Amino acid sequence: MVTPVTKIWMNGEMVDWQKAQVHVLTHTLHYGLGVFEGIRFYKTPEGPGIFRLKEHLRRLHDSCHISRIKIPFDWDVLWDAHIEIVRVNKLEDGYIRPVVYLKDGPMGLLVTEDHPVGVFIATWAWGAYLGEEGLKNGIRTKISSFVRNHVNAMMTKAKINGAYVNSILAKREAIQAGYDETIMLDTDGFVSEGSGENLFIVRDGRIKTTSLTSVLNGITRNTVITLASELGYEVVEDRFTRDELYVADEAFFTGTAAEITPIREVDDRAIGEGRPGPVTRAIQDAYFKVVHGGDSRYQDWITVVK
Ligand SMILES: *Cc1c(COP(=O)(O)O)cnc(C)c1O
Repeated sequence: MVTPVTKIWMNGEMVDWQKAQVHVLTHTLHYGLGVFEGIRFYKTPEGPGIFRLKEHLRRLHDSCHISRIKIPFDWDVLWDAHIEIVRVNKLEDGYIRPVVYLKDGPMGLLVTEDHPVGVFIATWAWGAYLGEEGLKNGIRTKISSFVRNHVNAMMTKAKINGAYVNSILAKREAIQAGYDETIMLDTDGFVSEGSGENLFIVRDGRIKTTSLTSVLNGITRNTVITLASELGYEVVEDRFTRDELYVADEAFFTGTAAEITPIREVDDRAIGEGRPGPVTRAIQDAYFKVVHGGDSRYQDWITVVK
């Protein structure tokens, strides 16, 4: 269970955690059309700092555009609501989950522009998504028997609620087989991403990540590309095969929830020396410094909640 905080922003109002409820005929609950975001805020010297709120809000709008959902609130209202939800719940660091959903309206699969749309924004404290131990020493992964959504089946650039059935099936399979996370291939057989994380590999000091084909355009992915280039590494965006992953010197996941999580094993093969390597470490260090407001070059990525 998520530990309750006091308030959730729901359709323009701050409501008590227990009272933030929807009707059973909520359309999104039946068919999965709705969109969401996952945002983190961290403790910074000036107070809680929301990381890359602008990019997350933009992607929320992109997801709606792709899904043809019209958000019934202006950008500024949503912007302020994200800040307010952190302020009223008095958390120093945590996770923010905005969801744009189709309310109870006409049933069936024809969704029109007139369908009533709702928005809520919740927040809660969330530690290391793949475990403190995983963050420190790396995790064990397995290639999934489930294939990542085809680019023309489920839109891969949108965080659409229903798309995560694919992720849940893959993740559960890996966990039940004794691994920590799954890695999915795309429909052509190339490495795609984790259940909710982008994937990077390193070989001979060169960094590679899957190009924006079957993968979500991760904001952490973008942050890492920026920081890695800054650190002097060459970053290539291209598809690669599972055996290229097997012979990588290092591999790691990126995501708002997963942050930078080293991968120490894929399909029972050690990656490099079977522990986080120097490039992963350097990027992890740079990332945590930035999100905690410790790098003045990236202050504009942080929205401080006063
Ligand atoms: C959210 C998500 C990611 C990570 O994106 P971030 O913007 O870095 O949080 C990666 N893959 C999938 C499928 C996701 O849903």
